[in-house]
Amino acid sequence: MAANLQGNPIISSVWHPKDAEEARRIKLQWGEQAVFTAGGTLLRTQWESGIADAPAHLIDLNSVDEMHELTEGQSGEWLIGAMTTLSKCRRHVMLQSKLPLIAEAMRSIAAPSIRNLATIGGNIASVVGDSLPALLVYDAILHWYDGQTTARQPLYEWLETAALHSGWKDRLLLRVELPKMSVAPESKPFAVYQKIGRREAFTPSVVTIALTGSLNADGRWKDIRIAAGGGQTVPRRLEAAEAELNDKAADAHSLSAVYNGILAAFEPKGDAFASADYRRKTAANIVVSELWSAAKRLADER
Ligand SMILES: Cc1cc2nc3c(=O)[nH]c(=O)nc-3n(C[C@H](O)[C@H](O)[C@H](O)COP(=O)(O)OP(=O)(O)OC[C@H]3O[C@@H](n4cnc5c(N)ncnc54)[C@H](O)[C@@H]3O)c2cc1C
Repeated sequence: MAANLQGNPIISSVWHPKDAEEARRIKLQWGEQAVFTAGGTLLRTQWESGIADAPAHLIDLNSVDEMHELTEGQSGEWLIGAMTTLSKCRRHVMLQSKLPLIAEAMRSIAAPSIRNLATIGGNIASVVGDSLPALLVYDAILHWYDGQTTARQPLYEWLETAALHSGWKDRLLLRVELPKMSVAPESKPFAVYQKIGRREAFTPSVVTIALTGSLNADGRWKDIRIAAGGGQTVPRRLEAAEAELNDKAADAHSLSAVYNGILAAFEPKGDAFASADYRRKTAANIVVSELWSAAKRLADER
């Protein structure tokens, strides 16, 4: 393996496979010496900061056409190729209208020049990407290719172990599937994505929240989904907190219950800038404030 003057490995080959099968074959051939690269924006930061060594072999996924596709399936599901850039997700008119939190999450990530290179696949594979809470409330399903078959795996399930076991890094993420969302009859839907950072824009997240649901004609919460992440916290759904709202009246009692539910269920990682406790309370405050606004707005519309 080639090395630089400091003895660190340097990239000796960049491969440009033309399809998923070839990409997977190259990965199998070189094992841990080879890394898939999409936009390269995260990898480059990791190499420059010393978090990871540059690999001997880079497998550039740009020429794999099927990974750039963004289509609506026959059952109304959306299929977003892993190589779709964050900019394209953000600007896509149909995604904006059907799954607005995807565009909203992409808008909050980095700056336009980075979003033009960075991909949704790379953001997912980072395990802590800011798009993940939005994908979680939309019940995203990942399509992984292992060289022979393509397996579908719910995003929430993969996130449960992704940070602990690196076996998935041998597989190729082809696309992410977002099933068609349904709204309970006679209900008014709402959807919110919020990223709190240490400044207004171009900032790492402290807390990210995605929230969807609806309010029925009797003023009761329906189909509430809450996902939280931010910083180095692996995002997850907060089902116990959701249960405090579903079918309950939209009043101070249910908001108080969900606030306490989030404090109990959310386990963020703290760092030198923001403690775990600060992040937990921030998440609970955002959710309650957004639910309050949604309840008021939807009641006024009736
Ligand atoms: C200045 C700056 C600001 C940033 N701000 C943010 C931010 O606000 N929020 C945020 O979430 N991120 C941020 N990032 C991180 C990064 O830009 C995003 O996470 C981006 O979406 C990563 O996508 P990429 O295509 O560049 O991934 P890459 O860097 O190419 O890859 C990232 C990882 O994913 C793996 N990978 C990529 N594609 C696949 C695939 N199809 N199958 C399997 N593995 C794959 C790679 O092997 C690598 O481990 C920032 C980065 C920079 C440089």
